[in-house]
Amino acid sequence: MKVAKFGGSSLADAAQFRKVMDIIRAEKERSVIVVSAPGKRTPGGHKVTDMLYLTHQLATIDMGGNEVFSSIAERYLTIRDALGLAYPLERDLEEVKRRIFAGASADYAASRGEYLSAKLLAAALNFHFVDAAKIIRFDESGSLDLPTSLALTAEVLKEGHFVVPGFYGAKENGDIVTFSRGGSDITGSILAAALHAPVYENWTDVSGFLAADPRIVNDPKPIEVITYEELHELSYMGAQVLHEDAVYPAHHAGVPIHIRNTNAPNEPGTRIVPKKEDSPRIVTGISGKNGFMLVHVEKRHAAGDSGFLRRLVSVFEANGCAVEHMPSSIDTVSVIVREDPFRSKQKKILEEISIFCEPDAIAVEDYITLLAVVGEGMAKRAGVAARLFTALGKAGISVRMILQGASELNIIIGVAKDDFAKAIGALYREFFKEEL
Ligand code: ASP
Repeated sequence: MKVAKFGGSSLADAAQFRKVMDIIRAEKERSVIVVSAPGKRTPGGHKVTDMLYLTHQLATIDMGGNEVFSSIAERYLTIRDALGLAYPLERDLEEVKRRIFAGASADYAASRGEYLSAKLLAAALNFHFVDAAKIIRFDESGSLDLPTSLALTAEVLKEGHFVVPGFYGAKENGDIVTFSRGGSDITGSILAAALHAPVYENWTDVSGFLAADPRIVNDPKPIEVITYEELHELSYMGAQVLHEDAVYPAHHAGVPIHIRNTNAPNEPGTRIVPKKEDSPRIVTGISGKNGFMLVHVEKRHAAGDSGFLRRLVSVFEANGCAVEHMPSSIDTVSVIVREDPFRSKQKKILEEISIFCEPDAIAVEDYITLLAVVGEGMAKRAGVAARLFTALGKAGISVRMILQGASELNIIIGVAKDDFAKAIGALYREFFKEEL
């Protein structure tokens, strides 16, 4: 069996529902389906989830909300009628409306978007509807209880064909709790982990991840296969990918995630795998983040002073400023921090470094961008760094600092903020255009 999750854009209207049904019917292994609430039908349109939050808000302050709720009901009924279903959704809609106006919580209201989607799709496919409140458990404080959710899912979805609403679950007393926005991805991941699915398909409106940001690089190549480690590095360094909470359950259970496009189901998409058989590509992806500062601390014989680094780091720690990286040479250490919160505490931090570390000099450089060149294919391969620095050199970019961990999975380079786009472009051309 496979777990397949369909996002809001995949269920925005009846035409999208039909595409989803065709995809599910094309493979009988797709037997556990997770759905979002209908998303925007047009770029300027509204997501059902937002409309539900609005209904709840208006109902709470006694400002009506009937009209907004009517347009929600109308969206679902239009889909039902266009699909030619006899399912009496009016009953569910009445119940939802009654409870929202009787004072149900915002989480309850928001969760009904996926609840109603799932009811419709289950009726259309003739699959069983399973309420997520039965299998996704939150504890008293409102945090996900993953072990209990995994156990309940494995028990309830043992055998059969199911549609489960994403985005929410319930406490033991039945109170509905939602994940953060976009949380249906998390539901899918939990179900795939609980059922030890061979794959968790995540159907959306793009054909997977791209090797670089399309706002910077023109028409970047898609990433066909990426490991969980590579994905983590790229997303930490700014690439917009799946939320960490949505990755964790599947990753932990060793289930691959396959990102696919509902509007282009024949495209290969991106597979996120625990391990790659081999790495035909040297570099998997390139990302970058602005907003860093470098604090250069110079002290003669610092390398021989065993307490120096500890004192330096503790100044940042005491001021609530995380140290991102710390490349060093014999007599200097460069501490890389985020502009926010460093800038607001700069004066105090520099004073404390002077007192506790007695440096010979301190200098601060701002507007630093960090670029990450990520790929398991780089490990133990000679000449990658040479190509990387030659490409940057030829583009006239001065490298401010370099980091490479022992895993050789990621090379991080600091450049001036103004060189950001030029550097990403040069690296992309070097590793993706000219040859493999
Ligand atoms: N419908 C919810 C949202 O709009 C959750 C989801 O789509 O994953 O955030």
